[in-house]
Amino acid sequence: MFDDKKIEILSLYPEEIEAEPSYRRIQIFSWLGKRSAKTFSEMTNLPAGLRAELAERFTIAVPEETERRISADGTEKILWTLHDGERIETALMKYKHGTSVCISTQAGCRQGCAFCASGSHGLSRNLTAGEMLAQALYCGAAVNHVVLMGTGEPLDNFDQTVRFLKLISHPEGRGLSLRNVSLSTCGDAEGIRKLAELKVPVTLSVSLHAPDNETRNRLMPVNRKIPVEELMGACLNYFQITGRRISYEYVIIDGINDSPAHARKLAALLRKQAAHVNLIPVNPVPGKPFKQPDKDTIAKFVRGLGSIPVTVRRTLGSDIGAACGQMRSTKT
Ligand code: SAH
Repeated sequence: MFDDKKIEILSLYPEEIEAEPSYRRIQIFSWLGKRSAKTFSEMTNLPAGLRAELAERFTIAVPEETERRISADGTEKILWTLHDGERIETALMKYKHGTSVCISTQAGCRQGCAFCASGSHGLSRNLTAGEMLAQALYCGAAVNHVVLMGTGEPLDNFDQTVRFLKLISHPEGRGLSLRNVSLSTCGDAEGIRKLAELKVPVTLSVSLHAPDNETRNRLMPVNRKIPVEELMGACLNYFQITGRRISYEYVIIDGINDSPAHARKLAALLRKQAAHVNLIPVNPVPGKPFKQPDKDTIAKFVRGLGSIPVTVRRTLGSDIGAACGQMRSTKT
């Protein structure tokens, strides 16, 4: 049981866990990260006295699994209830090469993108690094790929997100290679610059969705503060500093951003860097008027991109509301 008078241990690096002698810290950290322990009593290589003492001082933020839905395509969506009643969602995608988990970084979201369900009720609160980690540890699958693409804007919760990345990749914990982690942002230029400086080798995905300010302003309120030119400047900087190719997400919507002219502008914008475009036919969200373009329009758009590498994303989990843009959060 979570106890808010105690220290939440899943958010801590081993050196921050006060336990003596110091090699015990690594043991405790490994029980959590490698073996997904939910209680101190199961840490059987620790002396009973230490286990009891740890339980007095620390709490493990194991979220309650409130519901799990399984899609016809095998995708799962887990609804968790956090200790304060906040609800968040996690999606599990099973591929031939392993399981990918789509993690939420906030309860709700303040960005309010026109086509996305996650921001419909605004932001409730940031998640802690431990609450992000818990989604990977307790989802019931051997996770080998993490995408920060659930509810929330990871760069609006910068410090906890970076802490999460360090925790999940820590060799004494889960030890997941950051090459297997993708972080998706709606376009916080300053956050992208900070991430480049930190040199955390994740794959950066940028939710672009439009190549010009006029179209992007209609879809994403963030663009009114950070226009396309400023965002692209930060992306180019990221590419130059890290040498890593950025993946650009483009939710393609009937009659809004799907013309060959949009495609040509997009290609011109990305020409200066090694980019990859991830085209996502918009998923339906209740109460939102957006429709997917027909196959022919999508094919023309792809041709308009010329030599820019592009993938059309396969929709997974839309029958259970686990597809991109369908994840939300509600409070109990
Ligand atoms: N805030 C971050 C992380 C969320 S990622 C970001 O904006 O990138 C979720 C991805 O799903 C983003 O690319 C988002 O734009 C996309 N998305 C949102 N609503 C969608 C919808 N209705 N259909 C398809 N993709 C959607």
